[in-house]
Amino acid sequence: MQRIKKGDTVEVIAGSDKGARGEVLHVYPKEDRVVIERVNIVKKHQKPVSAGRQQVQPGIIEYEAPINLSNVMLVCSQCDKPTRVGYRVNEDGMKVRVCRACASDID
Ligand SMILES: [Zn+2]
Repeated sequence: MQRIKKGDTVEVIAGSDKGARGEVLHVYPKEDRVVIERVNIVKKHQKPVSAGRQQVQPGIIEYEAPINLSNVMLVCSQCDKPTRVGYRVNEDGMKVRVCRACASDID
């Protein structure tokens, strides 16, 4: 089970974007990496090239680069704190994520 899922709000706990919060846009489970909205922005210079029928606009493209999962913590929607994730099994036998700080369900 994934600790962090797409659509979660996370806080960056290490690196140059430490303290930043954003929504998880993409998860790469195999690489343990996540892409977070407005975090780890990299700039890429785009040359004017034509890709197929579409003309690619030249200039500087900004996009979010993936960062390591260990550099982020899930922000609990109930207590608004970055927290470690616990698990419990609910009445239906499903595993749900719980906040370790306030013990409320995250899913
Ligand atoms: Zn909480």
